[in-house]
Amino acid sequence: MTDTCHIHKNCLDEMFRHAIDAYPEECCGIIIGDGDAAQVVHRFENIQNRLHKEDPLRYPFSASIAYTVDRAEADRAFSLMRINGHTLAAFYHSHPDHPAFFSEEDKAAQTVFGEPEFPDTAQIVIALSRGEISGIKCFKWNPNTKEFGECRII
Ligand SMILES: [Zn+2]
Repeated sequence: MTDTCHIHKNCLDEMFRHAIDAYPEECCGIIIGDGDAAQVVHRFENIQNRLHKEDPLRYPFSASIAYTVDRAEADRAFSLMRINGHTLAAFYHSHPDHPAFFSEEDKAAQTVFGEPEFPDTAQIVIALSRGEISGIKCFKWNPNTKEFGECRII
């Protein structure tokens, strides 16, 4: 636990609201940073249930245990972020009625051929129990172990 991740209080509150709103489905989104000055939460739609309904063989999990972001929506958010000179501070998603760990599925979603698409970006996992926030953890890619390791949220 050498790494740290700076998340502003207003963003923590907003992520928690999103996780509660989405319950019992997983929520997902990003935190966009403006240097030290400001951070904002950008919510993504979890399209997992739509994919699961359309193609259950390819998408065996429902939105209560998985999330998928529409790639076009994510690309729009990323290009707007770059145009504004902002940076990606963190990804987040929730685990309804599951603990805040970084699952094998989470690792698979964030890596291509074993390498992460965003190696420097923190991954926040919010746990809920019966619709209420029960935990939060943050993970970062460790290039030495090729795993996501836990880091401290400040
Ligand atoms: Zn997860």
